[in-house]
Amino acid sequence: MAVLVFAESLTGSIKKIAQEAVAYGYQAAQAMGTECIALTIGQADGAGDLGLYGAAKVYNVDASNDFDAQVYASILGQAANKFGADLIVFAHSSSGKSLAGRLAARFDAALVTAATSVPTVADGGLHISKGVFSGKAFATYALKTDKKVVTIAGNTFRPTAVGAAVAVESVSLDAATGRISVKEVNTVTGAVPLPEAELVVSAGRGMKGPENWGIIEELADTLGAATACSRPVADVHWRPHHEHVGQTGVAIRPTLYIAIGISGAIQHLAGVNQSKVIVVINKDPEAPFFKAADYGVVGDLFEVVPKLNAALAKFKANN
Ligand SMILES: Cc1cc2nc3c(=O)[nH]c(=O)nc-3n(C[C@H](O)[C@H](O)[C@H](O)COP(=O)(O)OP(=O)(O)OC[C@H]3O[C@@H](n4cnc5c(N)ncnc54)[C@H](O)[C@@H]3O)c2cc1C
Repeated sequence: MAVLVFAESLTGSIKKIAQEAVAYGYQAAQAMGTECIALTIGQADGAGDLGLYGAAKVYNVDASNDFDAQVYASILGQAANKFGADLIVFAHSSSGKSLAGRLAARFDAALVTAATSVPTVADGGLHISKGVFSGKAFATYALKTDKKVVTIAGNTFRPTAVGAAVAVESVSLDAATGRISVKEVNTVTGAVPLPEAELVVSAGRGMKGPENWGIIEELADTLGAATACSRPVADVHWRPHHEHVGQTGVAIRPTLYIAIGISGAIQHLAGVNQSKVIVVINKDPEAPFFKAADYGVVGDLFEVVPKLNAALAKFKANN
């Protein structure tokens, strides 16, 4: 019996989402009375530090970092059998989601995606909760298959130090060549990755045009925040598609979400309403977003945002 965590390192190093997955795996293992094993594939700088977040063992499989869902699923399936994993944990990233589905099909296993609770052991299975109906309700699932698969919502399980770094052991599993070959990988560089960001500054059609985004980027820079946008803004190419949040975009759970010139349509809220604190800046006091806001400013964003930025910059300089 064990909890197996896939600690992804697609860019060659361990990122926060992998640490969160291990932190979750550790808590799950505690609840289940077993140990948490982390598996990395390919180059994974910082893998030994996963011991800090609760991995009793960290294994590495020598394979390419170029993600191939079929190859990675095969490796993880072998690892789950080898280590006798009852629960297999993934981050709710694009690769985590595609692997979780494949593993669940392979093992005929119960699957919960974007879990928000650590499992509790009950009725001969595991109970795990997640948000449903665009985050308006929670559902608790009873997982009763021998093997269970879960992806965990980002920014939900904080990686806190519970142990010490461990030596990474290599494990020999069949990493057969896949049926696809990766010709090119384009990654977003320089910016704070949106799904991992604690602070997000987001803007919508109220910005009037892409030429006005300088004030959003300045505010994001001052805060060290990631930038996001509403869907219509990405659809008309004012902003890149990877910034689009909502029902059909990225779902995020930052500590702070600042929504500027966004009306707060239900499809937008679906991706952001799990944020801990929501600040809305909108000139229309009737904008629906104010109902979901913790703090709201009714005003013209072209006046409010530069003043907010100047005040934050001053605060930062003095603290
Ligand atoms: C199937 C489906 C899926 C969808 N998925 C998504 C999704 O994933 N994400 C998403 O975002 N949308 C999604 N949408 C679209 C969604 O319904 C809304 O149309 C969209 O979110 C509106 O974007 P917006 O708030 O930027 O624009 P608008 O609705 O045009 O709102 C602009 C806001 O800016 C304010 N404003 C204007 N000027 C200023 C100013 N100077 N100062 C301050 N405030 C100002 C206005 O008062 C207004 O509230 C989806 C729609 C459908 C049908």
